[in-house]
Amino acid sequence: MRIGFIGLGAMGRPMAKNLIHAGHELHVFDLVQPAVDELVAAGAIAEENNKAVAAASEVVITMLPNSPHVKAAICGPNGVLEGRHPGMKIIEMSSIAPLMTREVGAACAEAGVPMLESPVSGGTMGAADGTLSLMCGGDKALLEELRPILEVLSSSIVLCGGLGAGNTTKLVNQHIIAVEIAAVAEAFAMGQKAGVEPEVIFNAIHNGYAGSKVLEGKLTAAMDRQFKAGFRLDLHIKDLANALETAHSVGAPMPLGSLVMDEMKYLSNNGLGSEDNATLMKYYERLAGIEFHRCQEAQ
Ligand code: NAD
Repeated sequence: MRIGFIGLGAMGRPMAKNLIHAGHELHVFDLVQPAVDELVAAGAIAEENNKAVAAASEVVITMLPNSPHVKAAICGPNGVLEGRHPGMKIIEMSSIAPLMTREVGAACAEAGVPMLESPVSGGTMGAADGTLSLMCGGDKALLEELRPILEVLSSSIVLCGGLGAGNTTKLVNQHIIAVEIAAVAEAFAMGQKAGVEPEVIFNAIHNGYAGSKVLEGKLTAAMDRQFKAGFRLDLHIKDLANALETAHSVGAPMPLGSLVMDEMKYLSNNGLGSEDNATLMKYYERLAGIEFHRCQEAQ
């Protein structure tokens, strides 16, 4: 199939490569030329803008940072809708505000282009392995039609409801991860200051109820002092902002989310926004005056 892929960042690049490996003809665009060059080297065809991507493709996938980027890439000048043609469909996979999903979806419907939303969870590893979890929103029949493409990228596909339900679900996911990183950091800082090595605590508890992917992935990253993104802190701030905005619009208080948001902003304002979201642990390290580390005895 001729598939367009727009947004060749940390997630988009491995996802697009998996579609090429599955035998699809990929037409790609990104504002960053080296990202396009990497995909062309992997077998993709570079297009001059998002309109040209659409004109060349039966299905267009977007994987962009946030709401304004998605609106610009799909509805803006030289955007996907300008390159529309009968039969073309859109899979919008970015993590954006649910309200924007509905707004862009409505613009697509008015232009006669069916759109499925499908934000993802699973990180750059899941993108590379083709094991992302997809939180879809939109029409069930459209999802079934597009399922063979989605299955190249994912190991779990759940239809959450109409347009916006996928990104609402993604916001739940992002809120939990943010608060969980903070909770792990706060608890482990206490443990380390009280004299027990973090790696010993990890070994003792990670198979119990406190065990989690955050504990496995983010605490170990902090102990190894590995903060290269991965998932940039600034993207997580974007998700929490969308979660808090959604929460306010429906009258759902999020005191924990508001607190962690300010902690993340403090770190971003102090130069850490491009690091992995594991860098949130540094806020608690600074509060406690410690740094997490591996211990020789436990290895
Ligand atoms: P990224 O910033 O690495 O990549 C985004 C890409 O979009 C960039 O290469 C940028 O140049 C391009 N872009 C921006 N505007 C454009 C436009 N108008 N036309 C064409 N290209 C444009 O971001 P990412 O980490 O790949 O994340 C993409 C989305 O997936 C985000 O919404 C993010 O929250 C979500 N997500 C990321 C991860 C992760 O681990 N990185 C995990 C799950 C979900």
